[in-house]
Amino acid sequence: MNGSRDEKGNTRIMEKTLEDLARRRETSAGVFVLLLVIYIIAAIIVSRAAGSGEIVMFGSNPIPMYAIAGVFSAVSNMCLILMVVFCGKAGFITSVILIMIQLPVIVGGIFVLHRYSSIPGIFGIFLTVIAVVFIYRDRIKEKEYLKHIREQATRDVLTGLPNGFASTELARDIIRRGRPFAAVTIDINGFKNINDTMGFDKGNRVLTEIASRFKSIADQSLAGTLDFVSRINGDEFSLIIQDIESEEEAVNTIKQYEAALTEKIHIDGYDFLVNASFGYALYPDDSEDIDPLFSYSVAAMKEIKRINSGEHILRFTPDLLKTRNLLVVDNKIREAIEKDMVGFYLQPQFDMSHRLRGFEALARMKDADGNFVNPEEFIPSAERMGLIDSLDLTVYRKAMAFFGDLLRRSDADIVLCINVSVKHLMKTDFVEEIKGLIEECGVPADRLEIEITESVMIESVEKASGRLNALKDMGIGIAIDDFGTGYSSLSYLNSIPSDILKIDKSFIDIMNTGDSSKKYVEAIISLAHVMDYRVIAEGVEEQAQLETLKSIDCDYIQGFLWGRPLSKEAAEELVLGKQDTPVS
Ligand code: C2E
Ligand code: MG
Ligand code: MG
Repeated sequence: MNGSRDEKGNTRIMEKTLEDLARRRETSAGVFVLLLVIYIIAAIIVSRAAGSGEIVMFGSNPIPMYAIAGVFSAVSNMCLILMVVFCGKAGFITSVILIMIQLPVIVGGIFVLHRYSSIPGIFGIFLTVIAVVFIYRDRIKEKEYLKHIREQATRDVLTGLPNGFASTELARDIIRRGRPFAAVTIDINGFKNINDTMGFDKGNRVLTEIASRFKSIADQSLAGTLDFVSRINGDEFSLIIQDIESEEEAVNTIKQYEAALTEKIHIDGYDFLVNASFGYALYPDDSEDIDPLFSYSVAAMKEIKRINSGEHILRFTPDLLKTRNLLVVDNKIREAIEKDMVGFYLQPQFDMSHRLRGFEALARMKDADGNFVNPEEFIPSAERMGLIDSLDLTVYRKAMAFFGDLLRRSDADIVLCINVSVKHLMKTDFVEEIKGLIEECGVPADRLEIEITESVMIESVEKASGRLNALKDMGIGIAIDDFGTGYSSLSYLNSIPSDILKIDKSFIDIMNTGDSSKKYVEAIISLAHVMDYRVIAEGVEEQAQLETLKSIDCDYIQGFLWGRPLSKEAAEELVLGKQDTPVS
């Protein structure tokens, strides 16, 4: 590692970044050379013509050569002015040097060689000097102003560190040069607590101290790499580590920044002990573009923060994006519940002779663009966010209101099955909620069935049984959903006050692929019957599966073969229109 890199290295990087940020359309060296060449040619013509008494013919008009000298003298002065305008400092210096050379030549010509025709040239030079000085002074002022503006745009006011804008620009520049680097996002853990308990002033001072510790590592190149540290916002910092040959070097550098926080921060007699979460992504391995690179490092930082272990450093891996997608679904579900975009579909269940047994209400949700979101995504998301009970209740209320109305308009002997998440079931007022809905929607209790997934029941069987008994006492049916996907044995079902078993689709899928699979399903059905359960086969898609299920004495089926989930209009038509086979 290059130990000679020092504060200057970073200052140079910063200044270069600032320059890049404000890069105006720079005049190429070609313009400078062109002006210089024109100037030299004009000056040679002037020096030849000024002392010549010759007359040249312009068409039929005789013109004295010294008049031509005046024209070229104006051209050469214009070149000097344009150099300052287009070529900045270099143009100014060149102009001054050329004027210094030109001036004694003209003055000498007048006083020594008595070339009085050069006298107007003196005025020309004098005016040029004034123009050059004023133009250059203006350029300096403009540059200072621009620098000030640039600094304001690229520097964080509180800590004096560069800000996120500067860091992105630097990363852009490194990528342009194709050099490997690590993009690191640093977030101070528990910083909100400091702000909340000690106030913003102390919070700001803690941040300033952290910034200065980070800065001294970067400035003195303590980690041995060329680092650029900036503050993005709040308690979030960013680090760009250059000149790394391996991931290990990047991690070693990050560890230096982590170690910078081990010492307590003293402010006004208070001691603050902080630590931070570091997420990083590598260019070009993880991404070749700036935006993904930084957002990957943020995803890694959030993940290591979420895990909340003793480790504080994590590299981005693609599976973290799944977590990001989860967040997207999380936001969608909140919005859908708020905007009443949660509805339901009804999937019919039939007995083996194709008589309608009832419907299972399945939650449906649309996002802001009107697209359906998969329940396998939004149900777990709603559980994670503690929104599952409002989601469930929305589905129950809407489905039960529809079903109650349907019952009043028909004499069909059908049930409505609703799914409950165990988190919701455990809510103290779950039984009361259901009681209220039964009354509100006019659905008799014995026409309602509640489905609980088997795996979930195993975790909290004791607590759940009390609730389920209360529901059962009201006459509500209890079904074990997705049976076979958990760890329970059939005997375990004894402890659950249920009367319907729904065999999971995965068993039905393989049932006809081998003798043992078929025997397994057959055994479940026979034992369930012994235990007084009725059995529903889920996910029946093929006629052959139906035939097998009939042959092994299954009670009901639910599946695409006889009925996909239906809109309420289609479900209504199925009941009132007395159709045998629903439209899918
Ligand atoms: P589930 O309770 O096992 O519901 C049956 C799922 O299997 C439904 O998926 C249904 O569309 C699907 N299905 C039924 N027959 C077939 C078939 O023949 N082939 C195939 N490929 N699929 C079939 P859906 O609607 O995506 O629901 C998924 C899960 O989400 C449900 O599984 C249930 O556990 C949960 N869920 C749905 N609605 C609610 C709700 O209102 N509250 C709660 N807590 N969970 C719900
Ligand atoms: Mg279900
Ligand atoms: Mg199921």
